[in-house]
Amino acid sequence: MIYTADLVLPITGSPVEHGAILVKDGRIITVGERASVLRKNPREEFLDFGDALLMPGLVNLHGHFECAAFDFLASEPTSFSQWLGGIIQAGRGMERDDWLRAARKGVADSLAAGITCSADITRSGAGLQAAYEAGMPALIYLEVVAVDASNLMETVVDLLERLKSSEPVAQAGVQRLGVSPHSAYTLTEAALKACADIARQYTLPLSIHLAETADEVELVRGGSGALARAISDRLALEVIAAGGSGSTPAEFLDGLGLINSALIAAHGVWLSEDDIILMRQKGAAVAVCPTSNELLNVGEAPIGSFVERGLSFGIGTDSIASNPTLDLFVEAGKVRAIYKKQGGARSKLRSQMLVEKLTIEAARILGFDDDLGSIEAGKRADFIAIDTSAKRHANPYDYLLESVTKADITHTILGGEIVYENR
Ligand SMILES: [Zn+2]
Repeated sequence: MIYTADLVLPITGSPVEHGAILVKDGRIITVGERASVLRKNPREEFLDFGDALLMPGLVNLHGHFECAAFDFLASEPTSFSQWLGGIIQAGRGMERDDWLRAARKGVADSLAAGITCSADITRSGAGLQAAYEAGMPALIYLEVVAVDASNLMETVVDLLERLKSSEPVAQAGVQRLGVSPHSAYTLTEAALKACADIARQYTLPLSIHLAETADEVELVRGGSGALARAISDRLALEVIAAGGSGSTPAEFLDGLGLINSALIAAHGVWLSEDDIILMRQKGAAVAVCPTSNELLNVGEAPIGSFVERGLSFGIGTDSIASNPTLDLFVEAGKVRAIYKKQGGARSKLRSQMLVEKLTIEAARILGFDDDLGSIEAGKRADFIAIDTSAKRHANPYDYLLESVTKADITHTILGGEIVYENR
C-alpha cells in the first residue's frame, strides 16, 4: 500500500512535498516523492490523503490508560491532595473488568489523539492488556503504590508475580515492561529501594512521579505540610515519622538508587537547580505534563533550566483524570509558552525541537527509536494524517505547534492499518 499526501514530514529527514510512503507488512519500505514511488511500484494500491500532512505517530511520555474512566476528576480545578484523595476513592469501586474497559478507552482516546506509542503506568495490569489488544507499542510500567511496613513483603512478591505473568503478553506483543513506584510520598524507603533493586536486577526501566507539588518537597524535606497530613492517615512513612529527610525528593530518591538513566520522572515541577544538575549527571529524563499541572494548580516545570542545563525531557499528557484534552500538540504549545515566560530564547527551543520531542526524541528516551518515532525505511508504519486544507504554513514545524490540535488529525495508522478515522 502507498499512502500519499501533499506533505510528508519524516522528522529525521527533510519534508517531502507531494510525498509518498510505501508500506508492506506493517513496515515502511520507502519514503519519497509521490511521482517516483508510484512509478516504481505501478501495481501497488494507493491511498491519497490529498491536502494533508503525514507525520509519525506521537509518542506520549507519561500516561495512565486505566484512569480513562476518571474524567469527572478533571471537571473542575482542585487542590492536589483533594484530587489524589478522589483518585484513591474512585479506584476502590473498580473491578478487573472496569479497569480493562477504562484502559481500552484510554488506548482508543490516545489513538484518536494521534498517539501511537505511550509510556503508560498500570496498577491493575489493564494498561498492558489494552495496549496488547490494540497492537500499540508501549512501555508499560507496573505500578507500586501505598506501601508501608505492613504490606511490604506481599507487595514485593506481588510485583515479581505481576512481572512474571505480564512477560508473555509483552513478548507476544509490541509492549515492554517497566516498574513504577508511584512517588516518594506513597511508598516507604524500603519499598522504594526494593523497586530500584528489582528494576536493576531485571534490567527494567523505571518511572516515578517526582517533585510534582511544593507539598511533596515539604513532606520529603521536613515531614510536614498538607500532603504529609493527608498521607499520614493512610500510610506510616519513615520520612514523616522522622520529621523529614532534609533532602529534596530527587536527592532522597537518589539515595535509594532510583535516579539513573533508566528513569523517566513525571512532572518535575519543583526540581531545584541542584536536582536538575543531579538528574542530568545521572542520565535521568523528565516527562513534563503542563495541562495536568495547570488543572491541579501545582505550578510550572522549570523548562528554562532543563534547556539550559541540558536535562533530557519530553512531554506527557498524564491521564484524562487531570487532562481532559489529551492533546500532545496543545501540551507542546504550553511547554513553549512556559519556556518563553521563563525568559527562554526561541532559538534554543525551536518548533522543530518540540515536534521532535513528540516523536523521535520521546522514542529515544523510551528506547523505541529503532522501531518508531520517524518515517524511515524499516520502521513501523505508525503515522498520522493531518488535514491542512484550511490553514497552511511555510514552516511545517511552526504550523504544527501554532495551528494544529488533535481535531485536525483525520487518520491514525498503526502498523500500516488505519485504526482511527475522524469522520
Ligand atoms: Zn501520572
